[in-house]
Amino acid sequence: MVELLPEGKRSLRDYYLASSVEEAIAYLSAHSGEAQIIGGGTKMMPMMQRHQALATRIVDVSRISALKRVRVQDNYLVIGGAVTYAHILKKDLIATHMPVLLDIAQLVSGSPLRREATLAGSIVHARGNSEGAITLIALGAEAEIANLTGAQWMPIRALFVRPGVSRVNSSAEIVTAVRIPLLEARQAAAMARRSPEEGNCYSSLISAVALGLKDDDSLDWLSMAVGAPTHVPRAWNLRELANGNGETDADLRESVVETVSSHLRNGSSGDATSDRAQISAIVLKAYERALRRARTGSSAHINSAP
Ligand SMILES: Cc1cc2nc3c(=O)[nH]c(=O)nc-3n(C[C@H](O)[C@H](O)[C@H](O)COP(=O)(O)OP(=O)(O)OC[C@H]3O[C@@H](n4cnc5c(N)ncnc54)[C@H](O)[C@@H]3O)c2cc1C
Repeated sequence: MVELLPEGKRSLRDYYLASSVEEAIAYLSAHSGEAQIIGGGTKMMPMMQRHQALATRIVDVSRISALKRVRVQDNYLVIGGAVTYAHILKKDLIATHMPVLLDIAQLVSGSPLRREATLAGSIVHARGNSEGAITLIALGAEAEIANLTGAQWMPIRALFVRPGVSRVNSSAEIVTAVRIPLLEARQAAAMARRSPEEGNCYSSLISAVALGLKDDDSLDWLSMAVGAPTHVPRAWNLRELANGNGETDADLRESVVETVSSHLRNGSSGDATSDRAQISAIVLKAYERALRRARTGSSAHINSAP
């Protein structure tokens, strides 16, 4: 395992630019325990420069054309594993079917970062407070993970082991795509976050909501995900949130805030993520934005997202 390499041997021996997924997997396999995938490199490159990267051979998958595709297939929006946040902003298919992803891409700080950073990389990076990952979890998205034995789709919410640690082993596996169930009329998603502290690019609290409305405007279904730096992202559905107490919208809002507050209190040491007023503001903002979008059928992304 690369983790076992002595510190002094962790300098780069090879940078391999793969032109297909098969080629990348073959390289990982041929250099088992020494090689690791790099996507946009926004996380990996600084680590390599600081000699903190554990791998000594890097496999770059950012030029694999199959991984740059965005398509609609079998009722899913499918986004390739090398699609960057800048691509997301340019793809009409994403603007049409999943405008919430445009909100997120807008938030990734600075255009140079947006040009390189990938959605797949943010999943494997496994921060508990990634806007992209939290929103994908609320949307019930899955990641396709390819390795020597084949490829399988796994729910993104199941890929988080603990903050910073992913179930995806990027020394042997590649996230080749992300697929998101398409939303129909009167269904929508939205994200809200606490604005990052001065000098910090990460938010301390993120909430994303996907929901569907019945003809009478009442909730048909709802999925809510919450992320914080110290926690593994967590998601709840309407049945779990209503908890037998959700007859009215006010009951549901109360239950949502209580559920999230109680979750964040566990393991938190009194930081901003445990402040009930802030939790309420963020989770209800995401909920209201999603409601508004579902009611108006608006496909415009929300420029005012903090
Ligand atoms: C200044 C700055 C600001 C940032 N702001 C934000 C922010 O606002 N929100 C946020 O969520 N993140 C942010 N990040 C973190 C990071 O940029 C994102 O998580 C980014 O999306 C990572 O993507 P990447 O392609 O650059 O990953 P890389 O750096 O290439 O890789 C990151 C990890 O993912 C693995 N990996 C990458 N692609 C694949 C793949 N296809 N298959 C398997 N493993 C893969 C790598 O092996 C590595 O372990 C920021 C980073 C910086 C430096």
